[in-house]
Amino acid sequence: MTSTPRTARFMDGTALAREIGDRTAARAAALTARTGKAPCLATVLVGEDPASVTYVKMKRNRCAKAGIESRHVELPADITTEQLVATLTELSEDPDVHGILLQHPVGEHIDERAAFEAIAPGKDVDGVTMTSFAAMGFGLPGFASCTPGGIMRLLDAYGVDPTGKRAVVVGRSAILGKPVGLLLLGRNATVTYCHSRTTNLSEVIREADILVAAVGRPEFIRGEDIKQGAVVIDAGYNPGNVGDVHFNSAAERASLITPVPGGVGPMTIAVLLEQTVDAAERQTA
Ligand code: NAP
Repeated sequence: MTSTPRTARFMDGTALAREIGDRTAARAAALTARTGKAPCLATVLVGEDPASVTYVKMKRNRCAKAGIESRHVELPADITTEQLVATLTELSEDPDVHGILLQHPVGEHIDERAAFEAIAPGKDVDGVTMTSFAAMGFGLPGFASCTPGGIMRLLDAYGVDPTGKRAVVVGRSAILGKPVGLLLLGRNATVTYCHSRTTNLSEVIREADILVAAVGRPEFIRGEDIKQGAVVIDAGYNPGNVGDVHFNSAAERASLITPVPGGVGPMTIAVLLEQTVDAAERQTA
């Protein structure tokens, strides 16, 4: 007897991001009515990298739609670490700015960590400071890294409780792999991190009840390595709108899967805007 291939349900990040966006816009409007000033996100762009220019433009457009003011700061590519730190410190001290986003990468000559640490933790709505990272680790209140925060929201929206599940995170970057593993651990998953030195990667991936792909390699993870019924979160975004998971073969085995585009991607900006309004509410309470 032949069995029909199982087809996973999509996790619709576009629809969920829209719902979160509507609630964020309502909260922004209420705050503006109460204080006479809209929540304000400062976006800081170093240089003219086309992808970074596009990302910042998208974020500012979404701010405008949600009734969040954005203050854009453009800095030349040859700015020094000291000058960038001074700009971020000034924004951190400015009472009219509630959240700060430093678009990265910022250029190899700059000490990116020093720049991130110049962002006041209360305004770190992109979740990039050591304070925010530690809060994720300790399970304390704070701003999540936006993409990992968005992934957790998707799991919640689709009724996936990580408790007791085997979660495998492929990738260990500071903005994505590591924090999403911490958040899953905080929700009682048994977490395994994989990276470029992992041996027997396929075997580890096959154990995953929840798989997070955060590698940056197109269609790197194939369906044959996915456990039947697994929840597959593809955070990858590669040229040609392709994720890190081979979608068609993975969808035959997974129970839930995020499409690319339209899965994790839209959630990142939704969480950024939501955290900007969180920050503004706290600062104006
Ligand atoms: P990254 O900093 O380049 O990290 C990639 C990770 O993958 C590293 O930890 C690396 O291991 C690991 N890796 C590389 N080759 C591997 C291999 N052959 N086997 C196992 N692991 C391997 O990338 P990132 O910034 O985390 O981004 C990852 C992906 O997510 C990219 O496609 C990016 O575009 C996407 N992304 C999407 C969003 C969004 O909003 N949707 C946000 C951020 C990133 P090592 O640590 O050993 O080098």
